[in-house]
Amino acid sequence: MALVGRPNVGKSTLLNAALGHPLAIVSPTPQTTRDAILGVVHHGPAEIALLDTPGLHRPRTELGRVMNQAAREAARGADVIVFVTEAPDPARLPRRVKEGEDGPPLAPHPSDLTLLADLGSEAPVVFVLNKVDRMRDKALLLPLLDAFAKLREFAAIVPISALREDGVQRVLDEVAKLC
Ligand code: GDP
Ligand code: MG
Repeated sequence: MALVGRPNVGKSTLLNAALGHPLAIVSPTPQTTRDAILGVVHHGPAEIALLDTPGLHRPRTELGRVMNQAAREAARGADVIVFVTEAPDPARLPRRVKEGEDGPPLAPHPSDLTLLADLGSEAPVVFVLNKVDRMRDKALLLPLLDAFAKLREFAAIVPISALREDGVQRVLDEVAKLC
């Protein structure tokens, strides 16, 4: 499986939680993961090889361009793609959302739309919404999950907190089902 997603959404944290020991470098600075890292986990009868790709993004530099290419190639060779994005930072939520007022619901990040469009349809995609720990009111996430679900077909949609190791096994369950 290849982990793909914007920088900083928690791909490396998810990889480490899945492996049960730190391997990938986790950092609040985007683009710490420069190369795809391979780890292997045994999950029931399945043996899952994990690729942590540098976050796919719109490159501003030559290094960024090369990283994007590496990530795309990793994703292309994978049997299952785990697309990771993050729950919004509550500090940055519009007040009307926090107070439950009417209006447009939370929308997917524009880069997520580009990334999903780039993934193609060769491999099944498991959608992971990470960092749900930072949203106290989980109901706020439902319209967001709904908006993503309308974008394309996902093999599964799994809200998790990689940091708290919550939901990580469910991601592996879904991947194992697709292998
Ligand atoms: P990557 O660039 O996608 O590999 O992201 P990292 O795994 O390096 O994580 C980026 C930042 O998000 C780090 O500061 C992590 O500690 C933080 N982070 C990762 N997962 C979670 C989570 O489930 N909840 C919260 N609150 N923070 C997280
Ligand atoms: Mg990383």
